[in-house]
Amino acid sequence: MTPAFEFGPVTEADFDELVALRIAVMRASLERLGRFDPQRAVQRFRSTFRPADTRRILVGGEAAGCVGYWPEADGDGEAMRVEHFYLAERFQRLGLGSAVLRRLFDEAPPQATRFRVGALRDSDANHFYLRQGFMKVSEDDWDIAYERPRLPAPVPMLTGGCLCGAVRYAARPTHHDGYYCHCRMCQLAFGNTRAAFINLRKDEVRWTAGTPRFYASSKFARRGFCADCGTPLSFEYLGSERMDLSVGSLDDPAAITPTTHFAVESRIANWHGDDGLRGQRLDEHAALTERWKSAYGDGVEPGVAAARGTAAGQR
Ligand SMILES: [Zn+2]
Ligand SMILES: [Zn+2]
Repeated sequence: MTPAFEFGPVTEADFDELVALRIAVMRASLERLGRFDPQRAVQRFRSTFRPADTRRILVGGEAAGCVGYWPEADGDGEAMRVEHFYLAERFQRLGLGSAVLRRLFDEAPPQATRFRVGALRDSDANHFYLRQGFMKVSEDDWDIAYERPRLPAPVPMLTGGCLCGAVRYAARPTHHDGYYCHCRMCQLAFGNTRAAFINLRKDEVRWTAGTPRFYASSKFARRGFCADCGTPLSFEYLGSERMDLSVGSLDDPAAITPTTHFAVESRIANWHGDDGLRGQRLDEHAALTERWKSAYGDGVEPGVAAARGTAAGQR
């Protein structure tokens, strides 16, 4: 198991102890290269030692190693430099190195776009950094320089399901923006004055218990619901890579923020307080208008009557 650790401060007075750690950790690799030279190791450490930007790694109060970490600004934005990352022999191969790096990545300032590190040529550190997602950017006689882009923070998993609990899902959308649909079909499908949805990719959703039953609400769309209790769960255009989940079926609907209103032409005014959010009419949505036309013909008004086949000119 990876031991728990904490960071502690480093001062100028720690130089001798840390340089001894550096020499102990790098000795085997340097000897393999035939370049083990303690004097040179001390000089190199002296020239790049930044106590204020270096931390001690403590495991149960015991000194397990050290790591330097500081920003480097350049033309392409800001990088965070990892330097002098050494773990004492008995704290290696425990997953501690990865755990320390993960914590450093997590605390990078918002403007940081990547991480940088260097490793002595042919040392085990190279394999370690490659496993952590670093890629080689340059090399010289002694060292290999690596960079790793900052990955977007993972979006937390959303879970939800129907009222009776028979159908459950898990979803990992890349955003948490929701919207209201005021179209008459959503009002009927939800038995409510409007529907609240989050739109996401189908491959971001997994049905984890049961499966919804689907109802073809028009020739080109279907709505998923629980066959036992009736909770509306999803909406999708046939053949689309995307779908909607109903916000009300989420375990934590508050995780989603409403951002827009759709089909405002059928919004029920006395059931709607103005929240200042942007609204769009259905006929302003060109792709959707096109779906209606190609499924039902040019002259048919999109909506419930067309879907039921009771619109003028449909019978
Ligand atoms: Zn149910
Ligand atoms: Zn709708």
